[in-house]
Amino acid sequence: MNDAKTRALEAYISAFNDKPDHIIRAPGRVNIIGEHTDYNDGFVLPCAIDKDTVVAIGRHEDSLIEAISCDYENQDIFSINKDINESPKLWANYVRGVAKYLQLDGYALPPSRISIAGDVPLGSGLSSSAALEMAVGRALIEQSGQKIDPTDLAMIGQKAENQFVGCSCGIMDQLISAKAQAGHAMLIDCRSLLCSPISIPKDAAILIVNSGITHSNSDGAYNERRLQCEKAALHYKVKALRDIDEAQLKAGKTGLDDVSYKRARHVVTENARTVNAAVALQDNDLYTLGQLMRQSHASMRDDFEITIPEIDQLADIMNAAIAQYCDNQGGARMTGGGFGGCVIAIAPNDTMESIIDSIHDKYRKTANQKIEILISTASAGVNYV
Ligand code: ADP
Ligand code: MG
Repeated sequence: MNDAKTRALEAYISAFNDKPDHIIRAPGRVNIIGEHTDYNDGFVLPCAIDKDTVVAIGRHEDSLIEAISCDYENQDIFSINKDINESPKLWANYVRGVAKYLQLDGYALPPSRISIAGDVPLGSGLSSSAALEMAVGRALIEQSGQKIDPTDLAMIGQKAENQFVGCSCGIMDQLISAKAQAGHAMLIDCRSLLCSPISIPKDAAILIVNSGITHSNSDGAYNERRLQCEKAALHYKVKALRDIDEAQLKAGKTGLDDVSYKRARHVVTENARTVNAAVALQDNDLYTLGQLMRQSHASMRDDFEITIPEIDQLADIMNAAIAQYCDNQGGARMTGGGFGGCVIAIAPNDTMESIIDSIHDKYRKTANQKIEILISTASAGVNYV
C-alpha cells in the first residue's frame, strides 16, 4: 500500500477513532520543458510524478473542519459557518484557502475530519503545495457528494495559493495535479488553458536531481525577468511574447535594448521548443526531445541568465552520460524558476543507473548542500488512491 496512504489512514483512525469515508491522492509535478513561458501566455509541458499528497476525509458532527497533518504533527480546526480566516500555521492555510474558495465559488462545505500525509518532497520545487490543494479540494467535494470540473478545482487551488497563502504562482502546478493522465505529460497552453495529454515512451524514465541550492534573490530576479518580458512585448506591440515567432523577433529588433532582446529570445524560442518537444515525445523520439532540452538549458543559461554554475555542471554531467550510455536518446535541463532547484533528465529506463553513477562520480559541489535523486514515472492526476 502507498506509504502516504498508510500514514494518512492510520493517523485518521488513531486521532478520530473512526474510519474515513474517502481517501484521495494528488501528485506533485515536474516541468519537462517550457520555462518562464507561462506568464508570457506561452506553453509548458509538465508531467505528474509518482509522489503524492494523500487526504483521508470523514464526517464531523459539528459545523467544523478539523484537519491533522502527519508531516507537521499538527492540527487545525475552523468553522464552516463563519468567514474563513488565516491560521498562523502555514500548512493549515492551504486547507483553509481551498475551503474558502470552494465556498466562495458556490460549493457546499461538508463538516469534516481530515488527515494529510504526503511523500512529495516539501519545498523542493516539485509542487507539494498544489498536490495538497488538489487533494484537499477533491476530498471536500467527494465528502459533500458534489462534482467539480478539474479545471475549476485547479483555479480554486491557485486562488487559495495566490490570495490566501500569499504565494504568487501560475496555474500549471494545479492543472497538472488535477488533470494528469498516467503515462502522459501535458502540453498546456497558458493562454487558453487548453491541456493536451502527450504520451511518454514506455521505456523512458524521468530523473529528477534536486541540487538543494536555493537562491535568496530569486524573487527579485523573477520580477526583473517578468518586467523585461513585458517591456519586450510592448516593443513588439503584442499582448504577450507568445504572439511573435523567431522571424518577427529578429525583424523587429531595432530599438530594443540588448538584455530585453535576449530575454525575449529565450521566451520565443522556448515556446517553439516546448511545442516541438510535445511532438517529439508523442512520436517516441527521445533523440529530438533531448536536443530540445539541451537547447532549452543553454537558452536559460545564456539568454535568460537564470542558471548557476552548480546547476550547469549537473546538467552537463547528465547530458554527457546520456551521450555516452544511450547515444543521446534523451536529455537533461534545469527545471523550475532558476538560480538553483532541480535538474530533470528523460532517458531510457535502463540507463538511469549509469546517469546516477556519473553524477556521484563527477559532481563537485561548491557548497555543502546534499543532492537528492528521484526516479519517477508519469502518474495520473487527483483521484481515489
Ligand atoms: P513546493 O510546492 O515546491 O513543494 P511550496 O513552498 O510551494 O513548495 O509548498 C510547500 C508548503 O506546502 C509546505 O511548507 C506546507 O505548508 C505545504 N504542504 C505541502 N505538502 C504538505 C503536507 N504533506 N502536509 C502539510 N502541508 C504540506
Ligand atoms: Mg509550491
